Amino acid sequence: MSSKIAKTCQCDVDSECFCEIEAFVKGFKLSTLTYKRVMHLLNQEMNNGLKEHTHHVADIKMFPTFVRSLPDGSENGDFLALDLGGTNFRVLLVKLNKGDVDIQSKTYLIPQRIMLGTGQQLFDHIADCIGKFVRDHDLVGQKLPLGFTFSFPCRQEGLAKARLSKWTKGFRCEGVVGEDICHLLHEALRRRTNCDVEIVAIVNDAVGTLMSAAHTDRDCEIGLILGTGCNACYMEKLDNVGLWDGDYTHPEQVIINTEWGAFGDNGCLDFLRTEYDRELDTFSINPGKQVLEKMISGMYMGEIVRLVLERLAMEGLIFRGADRDCYLFERGKFYTKYVSEIESDHDEFFRNTKQVLDEIGVENYTTEDCKIVKYVCTLISARAAFLSAAGLSTLINKKNKGDMTIAVDGSLYRFHPRFHNLMSLKMQELVKPGLKFRLQLSHDGSGKGAALVAAVAMRLRNSIKQECV
Ligand code: ADP
Ligand code: MG
Repeated sequence: MSSKIAKTCQCDVDSECFCEIEAFVKGFKLSTLTYKRVMHLLNQEMNNGLKEHTHHVADIKMFPTFVRSLPDGSENGDFLALDLGGTNFRVLLVKLNKGDVDIQSKTYLIPQRIMLGTGQQLFDHIADCIGKFVRDHDLVGQKLPLGFTFSFPCRQEGLAKARLSKWTKGFRCEGVVGEDICHLLHEALRRRTNCDVEIVAIVNDAVGTLMSAAHTDRDCEIGLILGTGCNACYMEKLDNVGLWDGDYTHPEQVIINTEWGAFGDNGCLDFLRTEYDRELDTFSINPGKQVLEKMISGMYMGEIVRLVLERLAMEGLIFRGADRDCYLFERGKFYTKYVSEIESDHDEFFRNTKQVLDEIGVENYTTEDCKIVKYVCTLISARAAFLSAAGLSTLINKKNKGDMTIAVDGSLYRFHPRFHNLMSLKMQELVKPGLKFRLQLSHDGSGKGAALVAAVAMRLRNSIKQECV
């Protein structure tokens, strides 16, 4: 571990219990050699996903999207966009005008009963939200092209045809796996509204994020999501995509949606998973699935911290006076935003940490407890940042291009105080010498990106009539 990184994960706990605590958390401290092993395995798995004869056994699906051209700044017009990411659902009106972008958006709630209900309920709910948005924005009667950011693994059969391969994150709606998402939305729109919208593109949030950043930065060829889930996409040469069965016209490239959150589902990461990772998995709604995602993303990080703190409390190493009724002992009640808040404490007063502990109902904690809580958070978020860095470094080394921008979106990256720095530092260790990179926050990546894909599609449709963009 470089000394800069070691410094950011230091613990100044002077408790006698420190050695005992170490025994319960040492599994989160991984060597650079271990991250290099992860990169090697990931590279193998990605190559398996890309090849026709190994794709069916690969966990990382490497789905070719039908997005082959990046925006060139000439995209114009008004577009509707939908962004269904896992936690948030938004409807957006995106106005593109010669490089300028104006966005109006509204976030709608998707209640849990709908996330776990039927597909028809989900798409009717989405259609109702679109109907409301169109009415509230005086768009009734306008024919608007729509780009849909649907951030679940889909096998794409065309730019506006994508079959769901499995649900991930908190969703499990019946009757949707294997179905064409655009068709289901069209049907719901027909049932529930009289809006005149045409779905011209369906993408996932990583692709939207890449497109959105590429609008202003021509060196951007990788997109990363660190939100509810974790996923990445990148621009790949068609010659390397064994699965590609579209045409080979210029540009001979296509964005690959890696769906790397599933990395490790075949057990290849078991050597580094901790007992806490296994417990979280057992109690998740998709046991055995999305192994990498569960070690990194916002939906899970808080729960890993909670499981460690719960264990330390049971062992009598922290919170000796804590009441067993508090939220520390309840699954899902320690949010990932707490990790950001706790790690933002920089002095001995631990204001944020105390506020979080008060909120979850821990009583009689000491300053020593606060130090340990913060230490646990730093170890778990650092592992997540380093695993993300290992993934990106694998892609950068694979592309082997002199200079590259990586567009990143998602609340974990946006709000965690150290994620960006930790990732950058680790990537400096893992990326091949001579290759330059920069991590760039993509503002409103997924919403704006979906509208841009739709806009590029409309531009190309009006000129050369082709099926991809
Ligand atoms: P989506 O995945 O729906 O696009 P976001 O990018 O907002 O939505 O990510 C939501 C995830 O981010 C949630 O799992 C939540 O726990 C996490 N999150 C929200 N706020 C913060 C924060 N301040 N720090 C770290 N994680 C956060
Ligand atoms: Mg999002």
